[in-house]
Amino acid sequence: MLDLWLQWRVLAGQEAQRGNMARSDSDLIMICTSDIAGQLRGKAIPRRAVQERGEIGVGWTPTNVFITSFGPIAPTPWGSLGDLYIRPDFSTQVDLEMPDWGIDESFLIGDVMTLDGEPWSCCLRGQLASAARRLEERHGLIVKASFEHEFHYFGAEAQPGLGYALRAFRRLGPLPGRLMAVLDAAGLQLDTFMPEYGPAQCEVTIGPQPARRAADEAAILRELVRATARGLGSRASFAPIIDPSSVGNGLHVHFSLWDTKGRPVSHDPQRPHGVSEQAGAFIAGVVKHLPEFLAMTAPATTSYLRLVPNRWSAVFNNLGNQDREAAVRICPIFGAGDEAGKSTRFNFEYRAADGAASPYLALAALLNAGLDGLDRNLPTPQVTERNLTDATARELTDLGCERLPRSLAEALDRMASSDWAKAAFGETLIDAILRHKRQEIAVMEGLTAEGQCELYSQAY
Ligand code: GLU
Ligand code: MG
Repeated sequence: MLDLWLQWRVLAGQEAQRGNMARSDSDLIMICTSDIAGQLRGKAIPRRAVQERGEIGVGWTPTNVFITSFGPIAPTPWGSLGDLYIRPDFSTQVDLEMPDWGIDESFLIGDVMTLDGEPWSCCLRGQLASAARRLEERHGLIVKASFEHEFHYFGAEAQPGLGYALRAFRRLGPLPGRLMAVLDAAGLQLDTFMPEYGPAQCEVTIGPQPARRAADEAAILRELVRATARGLGSRASFAPIIDPSSVGNGLHVHFSLWDTKGRPVSHDPQRPHGVSEQAGAFIAGVVKHLPEFLAMTAPATTSYLRLVPNRWSAVFNNLGNQDREAAVRICPIFGAGDEAGKSTRFNFEYRAADGAASPYLALAALLNAGLDGLDRNLPTPQVTERNLTDATARELTDLGCERLPRSLAEALDRMASSDWAKAAFGETLIDAILRHKRQEIAVMEGLTAEGQCELYSQAY
C-alpha cells in the first residue's frame, strides 16, 4: 500500500505527458478492465481519490462482463448480484494532454478482483498473468509478444490500388505523424506505420514486451489510435472487416520464447527452419488447440468473413514457413549477423486474430495452448510451404491440419466441447464467453454481411 502511495505521489507530481498544463487533482482518471467484448470499460474518479483509494480502485459488477458491444446484455447467471473491484496497475497509466490535437486521455488498466482480494475468474488480464506464471514455473519460459494492428481510418479518401503508396500515406494527412508522437509520449516503443493494402487501411506496429505488458500496450494503442482519429474529427475502426468485398483488418500476434535469464530460446540453427525444440512444442500446442480457442482470437461474426482463402489471414491450423496465409507463420530473420543477434530477432506470428478480441484473452489463449504443447512435449508440427486450399482431405490429415471453423457459432461449439479449454481457463470463463458471444450472434441474426460489418465497424 505504501509503495503504491509513493508511486502515486511520483505520478501526481509529474506534469501530464507532453502537455504543458499540469493536471489538477480534481481531474478524472478512468480505471478500466479489458473484457470479453474486447472493450476497455471502467469508472472515472478524481486523481485525489486514486491517491486515497490506492489499490482499492473502483467497484465493479460481475454481470458487466455480459455487456455486448451492441447494447443487449447476454443472459447472466448472476443478475444484479455480487460485487468486485478493479485494482489499478499504475504501470499502465496513460496521461496525455495535447490540446492542439484534441487529445486528453487519462486512464489506467487494472485487474478485476473478488472481495477476498483474489483475481476474478473472468478477469482476462488475470487469466493472462496466470498463464504466464504457469509457463514460467513449469518450463522456465517467458513469452515476449508484439501486437501488429491493422485498422481503417475514415478521415482519408479511400481509393483502391494505393496499397503501401506514398500517395495513400499523404492522404492520411496528419494521422500517422500525430499517432506516432502520441504513442511515443505514452511510452510505447515505436516500430512501423504503413498505409496498408486496403483502401484507407493502416497498420501500426510496436516493439515486443513480456506477455502482460504486450497486451497492456495493445489495449493502450487501440485507444490512442481512436483518440488521435477523433482529434482529427474522424474515427478509426479495428473491426475485422469493414467491407465484405475488401480485405480484413488483421491482428497479428508476434511471439518468441525466452528463458528467465533473458536469453532467446526460440531459435536453433541446427533444426529445420530454425525452430527450436521448445518453440516447436509450444507451437504444436497452439495449432492443436487453435480450433478450440479460435472464438477467443476471432470473436466477431464477421471475423469469419476474413478467415477465408486469399485474404492473407488464416484458413487452416498450420505452421507455415514465411507464409502469410498460415495460422502461425515462421517469420524471416532480416539482416546478417551472428547467431546471438539472429536468435534475438527470430519470432513467430499468429495470424488468426482480429481487433474485436481482447488482447489479454488472445494472448492467454496462445500461452495456455503453448503450455499444453510443452507439458505434453509435442513434436514440432510439420512445416507447410504450399497453399493448402487445394490440398486433399488425405493430405491435410497427413499434415495434421484441419480447416478452421467457418463461423463464430461453429467456433463456439468447438470451445464448448473442449475439455482442454475448460481446464485451462476454468468453466466459469468458458461459460461466460459462450453466453456472451451467443447473444452477439443473436443480435446479428437476420442482418446482411454488410449490415453486420457496419455494426462492428462502429463497435470497434
Ligand atoms: N489484412 C490481412 C489480414 O486480414 C493481412 C495482410 C498482411 O499480411 O499484413 O490479416
Ligand atoms: Mg498488414
